[in-house]
This record gives sequence, structure tokens and C-alpha cells, in this order.
Amino acid sequence: MTFTSNIAIDGYSSSGKSTFAKEIAKELGYIYIDSGAMYRAVALYCLENGIVTADRFDHVKLIESLDRIHIEFSVDPAANKQLTLLNGRNVEESIRGIRISELASKVSQVKEVRWKMVGLQRSIAEKGGIVMDGRDIGTVVFPDAKMKIFMTASLEVRARRRYDELMQRGIQASYDEVLESIRMRDHEDENRTESPLCKAEGAVTLDNSKMTIEEQMKWFRHHWKSANSNNEN
Ligand code: C5P
Repeated sequence: MTFTSNIAIDGYSSSGKSTFAKEIAKELGYIYIDSGAMYRAVALYCLENGIVTADRFDHVKLIESLDRIHIEFSVDPAANKQLTLLNGRNVEESIRGIRISELASKVSQVKEVRWKMVGLQRSIAEKGGIVMDGRDIGTVVFPDAKMKIFMTASLEVRARRRYDELMQRGIQASYDEVLESIRMRDHEDENRTESPLCKAEGAVTLDNSKMTIEEQMKWFRHHWKSANSNNEN
């Protein structure tokens, strides 16, 4: 397998990309990779190492530190859950709060950070059999993916999903705060100079505002079949 067997899923924050991607991976026996976790891990490194303070974001220090930031994925066999490792430490829980979400959106605007993450993502995906979600997977990371999906849902639906997820994780936040944070991240992700969020050429759009995961999988099977028959022609 090569990049061309991969599935690229891009879309707005909290549009249900990871739930959908995990379900697809399970069905096809693929491996799911959460590229957003990498930007979140970089954001955590920045917070822990004084690169970001309450009133300053030191871009130069971040770029100088990139060689010291090592990100890997592993699996918790007991929970069958993907874990994100930052310099060998499991940071899966620490990267999920609102502060890190917002900071991830800022560090992802730095082109040197993106180059490093894209290199890492491509090396993980080179053997194929990968479902990866993010903001630039179909446009930049593997534009020759077998199938490219662009996901969206209304802002209110996404805010509700994110709020429920935070509550489940025991992270305190108000619904309004979550909605505002998503609105801001949408704006930053779509308007940055480096690899802005946009629909990749040849991608199919899925608006899942009113769809259950079963309905989304039905949608997927239909499009996956056409993606495979198009490739055979
Ligand atoms: O997907 P998730 O919400 O975890 O991503 C956190 C942030 O990382 C996004 O808001 C976006 O700014 C950035 N990101 C990115 N490119 C990706 C994945 C995430 O710029 N491929």
C-alpha cells in the first residue's frame, strides 16, 4: 500500500471528524491518526517551557525548540485507545482542554511547525492503510489519497458536541465559552497564510449536523465504493 490507499478527512473543529475516522478505521482495518493531537502537543510544550506566557508568544524560541519536540503515538491496550506521547510522556488528557485548543490554533500558524508536523504525518502514513483527520490532510499531507472528505456541521451543533465532550472528560467550561472558542478557531484555521483550512480538490463534503454515526457510515460506504471503482478504471 502507498499514500494512495489512505483516507484524508479535513474539516471544522468538532465536526465529528475523529468519531467518524475511528469508525472508518475499524471497518476497514485501517489505523486512525489524529493530526490535531500533534499541534496540541506542540502547544503543550510551549506552555510548559515558557514559550507562551499570558501576554507573549515567542515564535523564535518555538522554532529553535522544534528539534527538541518529539511526538509519537502509542496505544493503551487496556482501553484500546490512542495515546499521544510528547517526549516519551503520555499527554493524551492534558492536551484536550480549551486553552490548549486555542493555543494549538496559534502554533499551527507557524510554517516551521507545519513543515515538521507534515513530515511526521507523511512518514507515519507512507505504508498506507491510514485514516488521518485534520485541516490540511487532503490539501497538503496526502493530496493523492484514495478518498478525501471535507466535514462540516452547524456552529451550534459543533459547540454542543464539544461542550458534551468536555463535560465527559470532567473539564469545566460554559457552552457560550465553547461556542466562542470554536468560532475563533474556525476563523483562524480558515484565514491563516500557511495551509488554511479549505476543501481539497476532489473531496466530498459531508454535513453531519443532523446525521447519526450509522447514517454517516452508510454515506461513507457509498462514496468509498465509488472511490474504489473510479480507481480501477
Ligand atoms: O483537530 P483539533 O481540533 O484537535 O486540532 C487543533 C488545532 O490544530 C486546530 O484548530 C488547527 O488549528 C490545528 N490543526 C492544523 N492542521 C491539522 C490538524 C490540526 O492546523 N492537520
